[in-house]
Amino acid sequence: MKGLMMDYPLTLTHFFERCRRLFATKTLATRVPGSPLFRYTYADFCERTARLAGALEALGIKKGDRVGTFAWNSHRHLEIYWAAPLLGGVLHTVNIRLSPQDLTYIINHAGDTLLLVDQSLWPIIEPIRKDLKTVRHYLVMPDTAGPIPAGALDYEALLREASPVREWPQLDEDDACGMCYTSGTTGHPKGVVYSHRAIFVHCLAMCMTDSLGISERDVILHIVPMFHANAWCVPFGGVMVGATQIFGGPNPQPRDIAEMIQAEKVTFVGAVPTVWIAIKELVEKEGFDLSSIRCIPIGGSAAPRSLLELYEKKFGVRMTHAWGMTETSPLGTISRLKSYMEAWPDEQRFAVRAKQGYASVGVELRAVDEAGQEVPWDGKSMGELQVRGPWIVKAYYNNPEGAKQFTPDGWFRTGDVVTIDPEGYIQIADRTKDLIKSGGEWISSIDMESMLMAHPKVLEAAVIAVPHPKWVERPLACIVPRPEHKGLPDEVVFVEAIPKTGVGKFDKKVLREQFKAWQPKE
Ligand code: ADP
Repeated sequence: MKGLMMDYPLTLTHFFERCRRLFATKTLATRVPGSPLFRYTYADFCERTARLAGALEALGIKKGDRVGTFAWNSHRHLEIYWAAPLLGGVLHTVNIRLSPQDLTYIINHAGDTLLLVDQSLWPIIEPIRKDLKTVRHYLVMPDTAGPIPAGALDYEALLREASPVREWPQLDEDDACGMCYTSGTTGHPKGVVYSHRAIFVHCLAMCMTDSLGISERDVILHIVPMFHANAWCVPFGGVMVGATQIFGGPNPQPRDIAEMIQAEKVTFVGAVPTVWIAIKELVEKEGFDLSSIRCIPIGGSAAPRSLLELYEKKFGVRMTHAWGMTETSPLGTISRLKSYMEAWPDEQRFAVRAKQGYASVGVELRAVDEAGQEVPWDGKSMGELQVRGPWIVKAYYNNPEGAKQFTPDGWFRTGDVVTIDPEGYIQIADRTKDLIKSGGEWISSIDMESMLMAHPKVLEAAVIAVPHPKWVERPLACIVPRPEHKGLPDEVVFVEAIPKTGVGKFDKKVLREQFKAWQPKE
């Protein structure tokens, strides 16, 4: 039965107009290196977004046109996040760290008609401009001083002169509102197009208390790049609820992040594990106050259990491990303890929280083995994680090769190998391409990395497969010691046992003999 409810299309227009009416006095801010934060209100944001939309319209942006961004996290970037989709355009956030070849490929493949570029990043775009076939206009956002480059338009001047859009076009909830490319370690990067409906329902799910619980009371700091899975979709959710939002500005360093958390009493700040490892070092040395934080979503790669424990026990901050992908908008699973687990001993609680968690409402998941059989939820059997739901990609953008990532019965194949325990918590053993095949056995690089990073003298550890004549592949650990531990050996070998003398001392004579043909690395 259709038409039972008084419905309207689930588009971002609803969020924006609601925010404009309800949260006019709340604030947004951007870090400006060497100056105090730039601050303005949601009323300013909404007015400037309407002006930007007017400017985009005047430049000929029509429904379905792709609007590219090449920018750090900032309030201007947020203005485009909203102006393009509200007009029916498609926001395409381009990863500023890609090679010139990948950038050219992605921008041409998406067919961006307009590119909004931070002035500080213009030197990356300038040399490839001649190869960008579809871009008609470049808008430069003045995040640094200096004249606007020749051949580009001045973002601020356009906004001043534009007539603001007062009536948004009627959109369909299935219309595209944004797109991102995955970084593509094999083959070309693949594009994922998000619908208004996908982002709408994703934001509702993300803001639930049992999820990340983002609310009007939060002070959000955006460190996850706005070009990485749309900063995990938080800039959309933040506007939906009218939260205070602070943007990290150009290339924020651990000290900038710790200073902003302390000064602005940030309550919500997500980042990948390597960022939290670097911040930990600084906070341990200099004692920043992180106590305002209510929620740290951590994901993008596995959060070592030792890191979760340290933040909670030493800094009093609870991290929330989560799993997601560009293809899943990105919310997939969240590792929150169920109420009855709170009473469990530390050991067990942290073991659960170090897993990637159970499915968000709206997301269905299963693990499937190489024979195509669903594996049991026993916490032991491994299979490829497959997911489906209203914000999970259905097909890659103009990419017939990408079809193999989807099963005939309508699930997305994530390429992550997992176990699922009886409580529904998934644990990622590895990405398929990172698993180490030793003899006939699969070895998880993530398990070893977590163990190594629990060592007090280890800062970072990454384990990779290297070819081996007998075992096909063996794991090689690449380790960064903490800076205070100097005077380390260049190389380490693992042996069955250290030879001993008759009285049980290490017999270095025998060892020297064993390793006399050792080839030291260059
Ligand atoms: P990219 O492919 O460019 O890294 P994504 O951010 O979309 O872009 O990467 C998604 C992948 O990151 C997942 O398929 C998974 O392998 C990994 N990942 C994300 N979150 C976690 C996590 N919490 N633990 C382990 N791996 C994770």
